[in-house]
Amino acid sequence: MTHNLAKLVFWGVRGSTPTLERDTWRYGGNTPCLELTAPDGTRFILDCGTGLRMLGNQLTQALRGQGIHAHILVTHFHWDHIQGIPFFHPFFESHNRFHFYSFQSKSLGPNSLQQVLQAQLASPYFPVDVTMMTAAREFREVTGGEKWEVNGTRITAAWLNHPQGCLGYRFDTSGGSIVYATDNEPGVAEFDQNLRQLAHGADVLIYDAQYSPEQLATDRKGWGHSSWLEAVKIARETKIRNLILFHHDPDSPDKVVDSFLSAARQEFPATWAATEGMSITLSERGVGVSMRESRMGQRRRIRFSATVSGQSEDGTTFEEKATVRDLSLQGAYLCLSSRPRLQSEMRVVIEAADDQKRSSLLSLRGTVVHFDLGREKNQNGVGVVFIEDPEPVRPRD
Ligand SMILES: [Zn+2]
Ligand SMILES: [Zn+2]
Repeated sequence: MTHNLAKLVFWGVRGSTPTLERDTWRYGGNTPCLELTAPDGTRFILDCGTGLRMLGNQLTQALRGQGIHAHILVTHFHWDHIQGIPFFHPFFESHNRFHFYSFQSKSLGPNSLQQVLQAQLASPYFPVDVTMMTAAREFREVTGGEKWEVNGTRITAAWLNHPQGCLGYRFDTSGGSIVYATDNEPGVAEFDQNLRQLAHGADVLIYDAQYSPEQLATDRKGWGHSSWLEAVKIARETKIRNLILFHHDPDSPDKVVDSFLSAARQEFPATWAATEGMSITLSERGVGVSMRESRMGQRRRIRFSATVSGQSEDGTTFEEKATVRDLSLQGAYLCLSSRPRLQSEMRVVIEAADDQKRSSLLSLRGTVVHFDLGREKNQNGVGVVFIEDPEPVRPRD
C-alpha cells in the first residue's frame, strides 16, 4: 500500500457550454470541474462548471452527516467555469466549509468572486438568493506568480492568455505534480513563457485542446483557446510526463476528439483525452489512469470466440484469438415474418458457440422501436432496443 497517493477525478471536461448530443456522451457533456484529493486527504475542487453538481451529490452521499471541507480554485469567471455553483447542494448546508481562490477581475474590482456568486444567485436568474448559501465561505484573491501552501500541497498560479484573464494552477503534492491550464491561447510571448514555467517537469499537464490546429489558425483565432498540436509542443518543451487534452469543443463529437487524441499520441505517446469520470492517481509508483464504467447496454455473460487486434501499451500492434466473456447490447435489427407491434415487448434468444462448440444462450428482453417491410419477400425489418430483465435469465455456461 502506498501512502503518498494523490487522486484526480474529472467531473466535467467540455468547454464553453454543456452538451447533451448522443455523439458527445463518450467523453462527456459537463463543463469543467475537477476534484483533486491530496495524499493527506485535503480536497481541492478546480473550477465550478456543470460537473460540480454531480460532485456535490457524490460528496453528500459519501460523507453523509460529516461536514464537507474543500478548497475551490476558480480559473476565471466565464459561464462554463461557474455555472455549476447554484446546483452544488453542499453550499446550502451550514456544517460545510469552503475556501475559494480566484483573481480580482478588472471589470468587477475587489471581491470579484463574491460578486459573481451574488449575481448568479439573484433575481431574475435564480429562485433563491445568496443568503441561502449557508455553508461557511472564505475568499482569497490570488494573482499570477503567487505561490501558497495548503496542508503541505504547494500551489502556484500563473496568468494565461484568455479574454478577461484566466489563471493556470500547479499543485505539487507528495504524490506528484499536476498542472491545470485550461482556456489559454498560444502566441503571446509573456503568457507562453508563464505556461512553460508553470508546467515544467510536471507529472500531469491538463491543457486546453478545444480546436483543431486549422481552426486555431483561422476562424477561431482570438477566442482564447488552443489545440492538440500546441499541447504536444508544450508537453515536449516542458518535459512533462503525461498530457491530458481538455476543454473539448461543444461542437466536437466523440469521433473528432478521438482524431485529436490519435494525432497527439503520434507526437507524444503519453497523451489522454479528458473523459467524464476518468481518474488519475499519482504516487511514487507513477501515474495511473482509469475510466469509470461506461457500458450502458444490457450486459450478458456469454462465450464467443473472436479475433482481436489492437495496439499494445508500447505502441506495437497485436492480433490474437480470444473469448468474449460478456457483451453489452443496446439493440438489434432483425428480419421476421411476424409483424410485432411498435412499443410492445419482445424476447430475443441468441445461441452463441465458442471454438470448442460449447454454446451459451443470450436471452434478451427488448421493446420494439422500428418496423419496415424489409428487403426480402415476406420478411419484415424489426428494430428492438434491449431493456432490463425484471429477473435476469441465468445464462447457460
Ligand atoms: Zn472555458
Ligand atoms: Zn473562458
